[in-house]
Order: sequence, then C-alpha cells, then structure tokens
Amino acid sequence: MPSLYLHIPFCRHRCAYCDFNTYSSLSELKEVYAAALCAEITQVAAKDQRLVPTVFFGGGTPSLMSAESIGTILDTVRAGFALSPQAEITMEANPGTVDRPYLEAVRAAGVNRLSFGVQSANQDELIFLEREHTFAAVIEAVEMSRQAGFTNLNLDLIYGLPGQTMVRWEHSLQAILALEPEHISLYCLTIEPGTPMHRWLRNGQIEPPDPDAAADQYELALQMMAGHGFSHYEISNWAKPGFQCQHNLSYWRNQEYLGLGAGAHGHAAGYRYHLVKQPRVYIRRMQEGQARRYPWSSAVAEVIPLSRADQMGETMMTQLRLLQEGVDAAAFQAQFGQTPTEAYPGIIETLIQNGLLQLVGEKIRLTERGFFLSNQVFYHFV
Ligand code: SF4
Repeated sequence: MPSLYLHIPFCRHRCAYCDFNTYSSLSELKEVYAAALCAEITQVAAKDQRLVPTVFFGGGTPSLMSAESIGTILDTVRAGFALSPQAEITMEANPGTVDRPYLEAVRAAGVNRLSFGVQSANQDELIFLEREHTFAAVIEAVEMSRQAGFTNLNLDLIYGLPGQTMVRWEHSLQAILALEPEHISLYCLTIEPGTPMHRWLRNGQIEPPDPDAAADQYELALQMMAGHGFSHYEISNWAKPGFQCQHNLSYWRNQEYLGLGAGAHGHAAGYRYHLVKQPRVYIRRMQEGQARRYPWSSAVAEVIPLSRADQMGETMMTQLRLLQEGVDAAAFQAQFGQTPTEAYPGIIETLIQNGLLQLVGEKIRLTERGFFLSNQVFYHFV
C-alpha cells in the first residue's frame, strides 16, 4: 500500500536557503514534464492497481503547474492505482501563486489538502530568506483556500534565523495561529552548502544561527501551540485533532512510498532509490525508457538494497520522530525478531539515563529534552 510522492521541480525564484531539487529557469518544460510524470506513473503502476492511501505534490512549487496538469496527473494515478475516494491528496503551494479559480479547479481535480510555505510573518525576514511573497499574500491565500472549500490547510514557518529575536518569532507564531490552520510545521533553519545563504555566512555577511536562541524559540512554540489546541505529534509538526498529515506519517512509520518525478526518492520492496535529478534528463528517460520491475521506472538513478540492520536503524530513527507513537517494542520484535533493547544493547538504556528517551508501556519515545536534541539520539541508530 504505497503512498505516492510526486515531485514538481519548478520555482519562480530560488530562495536564499533552498537546496531542494528545483529550477527557476525551466518553466517552459512544465507541460512536457507533466506528460513525463504521467508516463512514469503508468510505468510504475503496471497492471497491479495497488491501493494508494495518500498522494503528495511536493517541490519546488507544485502550484505553478496548471490545474489541468494537476487534474491529468491525478487521473493517471486513478487509472494505474486504486486511489480511495478518502485519500489525502496534498499540494504544496506558495502564497502569491494561487487565486480562487485556480484553487477551485485543483480542488475539483481531487486535491483536498494544501500546504503553504509561509516561513515568516515579518517582511524583513521574508526579504532575507528571498521569499517572493508578503504576509498579506499569505492571509489572502488562506482566505481564498477557505472560499474554495479547503478544510485542511498546513502552514510552514522557519525559526532559528540569524539575529531573530523572540519577539519577532512570537509575532510570526501568533500571526499564523490567527489564520486557524489545521496543521502547522515549524522548521529550524539549516544553512546548506551551495546556497546563497551559505556564501553570505562564509563571507561574514551574516552571523551564524544561534542554536541556543533556536532552542528557546522551539520551547516558546511548544507552549503556544499547546495553548491553541494543537497536538505535537512529530518533532516539527503540530495538528488539530484528526488532521495529522497522513502522507508524512507513512514516512515516519517507515512505510512504503513511491517517489516519482525528477530527483524524487522512494522506499519500497526492501529498497531505497532515487531518480535522476535534472528535469531534462528525467523527461528524456521517460520518453525513451522501458519499464523496469516494480517499484522502479526508467528514470531511476540509484537503487540501494536495505539490509536488516538498515531497516532496524531506519525504523528507530523515523518512528522516534513520532512523539506519542514512538517505537512499539512488540511490533519491532515481531518485525525483526528482537526487541530494540536487544538490537541496540546498552544504547537505549544510556539514552534513557541521559534523559533523551523514555519508556512508556511498550513504547520507546523521545523525552521533551530529546525533541530538540533528536540528532544526538538518531546517530546511535545509523
Ligand atoms: S519556494 Fe521552496 S522549493 Fe522553491 S526555491 Fe523557495 S524554498 Fe526552494
């Protein structure tokens, strides 16, 4: 029962911190890319009609694709897979790229969840990040989404910006809470090599981010989100009851998902794999290629078989991200023939003694201290 991730590698402008597989100069390829994506969906689906519980259009900026293309892609999914009428179908969107007719059209095509990259409610921070929208455009996008009938919205923010004060972070949090989304994702800025922001850092144009300030900002978010009725279900994600992101849950539960589109990653049939990154190469591969065996298309670049040790480590790292669910020791034993404590002798006990993990019944979970220090926990399972 694989989830589907569909990558759309187009943006109008590359944000200063972005290292995603996206391109601002290839917009003329959008239609031919949509056709290649449909070809890949058909190739991977074969005749098996596998049940698909969720579809996620990620990017890049999927809302730059025409509503017709989104509809055609979803029709192709329906033709090749058993997509339930209740399936969660998410589209990432940028404020400023959508209007009400567009939102109505993609909703009519089947999209039932929107995820907006907001990142900040402070205009100077949006300029620093080289986002193209204003916060006024966010408010407008949320209003138009509601008018178009969307009842499941996610808003993203970024914290830990160089020089970001608590007052300004609190303002961003309050501003998005006032928009009453069903789901909120909060990500700590990481400055990746190769990005303009990394160059600014190297040249001394900006201060390095302060991890202590970011920890304080995360702490404030914990309090404010709880105060507004959000459940903190994953390290960086909060939801109103019933609105957890089903697609991302499949990642965190270490379940199968198929990655389709340029540079997409997948996990299925005991393998991890990724596709060629360049959209032109991807399109050519799909135009000329032959079907390979499930779950791979002719655009696959690399396939990595997962050993039992890999699968155990991935299960620990992904499931510990789920703060209430954690790792179920009995389920882990049923899958791998030993409990986490047997598989990682001494490690779980030490992490518990250090206050980073806790045992709750049969479940191993991160402690609140472990939320922000999760990387110190995860590297033990790599
Ligand atoms: S909109 Fe998102 S994917 Fe596009 S450049 Fe900005 S951060 Fe990257």
